[in-house]
Amino acid sequence: MRKWMLFGSMVVALMICAQLVRASGVGGREPQRVTAVASPPDTRPPTPAKRHFEVNVTPEMIRHSRIYDVLYFVDVVYGVAILLLILKTGWSARMRAFASRHVRWPFVAAMLYFVLLSLVTAILTFPLDLYGGFIVPHQFDLTNQSFAAWMGDFGKALAVNLVIFAPVAAVALILIRRIRRWWLALWIGSIPLIILGVLAQPLIIDPLFNNFQPLRDASLRQALVDEASRAGIENKRVYEVDKSKQTKEMNAYVTGIGPSARIVMWDTLLAKLDRDEILAVMGHEMGHYVLKHLWKGIAFTIAITFLGFFIAQRFFEWGLAHWGAGWKINDRADPAAIPWLLAVSSILAFLLSPVYSGYSRHVEHQADVFGLELTHLNEAMASSFVKFAEDSKADPRPPRFIEWWRYSHPSLGRRIDFVLAYKPWEKGQPNELWRK
Ligand SMILES: [Zn+2]
Repeated sequence: MRKWMLFGSMVVALMICAQLVRASGVGGREPQRVTAVASPPDTRPPTPAKRHFEVNVTPEMIRHSRIYDVLYFVDVVYGVAILLLILKTGWSARMRAFASRHVRWPFVAAMLYFVLLSLVTAILTFPLDLYGGFIVPHQFDLTNQSFAAWMGDFGKALAVNLVIFAPVAAVALILIRRIRRWWLALWIGSIPLIILGVLAQPLIIDPLFNNFQPLRDASLRQALVDEASRAGIENKRVYEVDKSKQTKEMNAYVTGIGPSARIVMWDTLLAKLDRDEILAVMGHEMGHYVLKHLWKGIAFTIAITFLGFFIAQRFFEWGLAHWGAGWKINDRADPAAIPWLLAVSSILAFLLSPVYSGYSRHVEHQADVFGLELTHLNEAMASSFVKFAEDSKADPRPPRFIEWWRYSHPSLGRRIDFVLAYKPWEKGQPNELWRK
């Protein structure tokens, strides 16, 4: 679902929020999509005979990582180019004329326009989605998902996108029409949407794609309940999800807020990590929970989008004054101007990327610290990171610029170095983040 926010995100806020909220997993990159590994009963020995702490870096791993690094930038440039093409060729004005010819109410016409625009952009960006989401994971043997199943997920994501963002776009146009400082109105309006999005994602959106159930392994569940209570968490919901139908990679993440808050483990992770590694990784996840990283992420997003919306209005109206007539756009609230609003949002979100990546790496590091202080499982955490890198074919030491710009987590190589070295309790020093 790398893309489901690209063409659909109406506003910078939602793009960034989606980034932050999806960034709380343990693994590095946003995972792609398969193997049928049923979660076995937990017969793992508590500590395996031998762990290894050195990632066996292969040329394949490097190639795989570089492909996604390049794709990340290509996606942005290509996405903006397509939006500009839709404007410049007059397709946007034609789609708006079509929508208003067939529907009488402007609000519904705006929604119809948005659906048409989304379908056109989905078709034009499809080659990149197919390459990054299906072809590359198969080339690197990271998935067994069939093309039909992949297309099914793709179609569902597009449909979800339309249902959510078509009305959002229509309401946004009304605000843009009626209010002179519409950037402020959109910013205020985005706040409940962001919170509602984080609340509803695990309850409504995620179950459309996968099956979630409470962790089945009773002895592991008990170990996690004990760990959680030491962390200061009572009644924490822990779910397992059948991600093996989409990917061979593994991950775990914290999601939701209030009544929807939960920790989710992919079945692939349950199949590949030993007991101590799972407890170490879950210590990291519990850190996110105890340190309220989701709420902080929401607050950070709201703050950063204040700036984003302010700049967006200026950039948007400046562009319309210069090129609007050529694009046959009637006024700033014309639905035909939506591609320009999306292009402006994409460019701003891209430029703000190092800011929210940096913030995300900071909280991920804190979660590592918390997990170690809680569990003292340094070696198990390091060996799980080695497995993450080898398993996902992720370069453990990417170029610093790439890490700085787009990595939501510190690189696995640096995390391994850190977790092997961080043992303040051995020197009688106090913990930084976890206190009994
Ligand atoms: Zn994390």
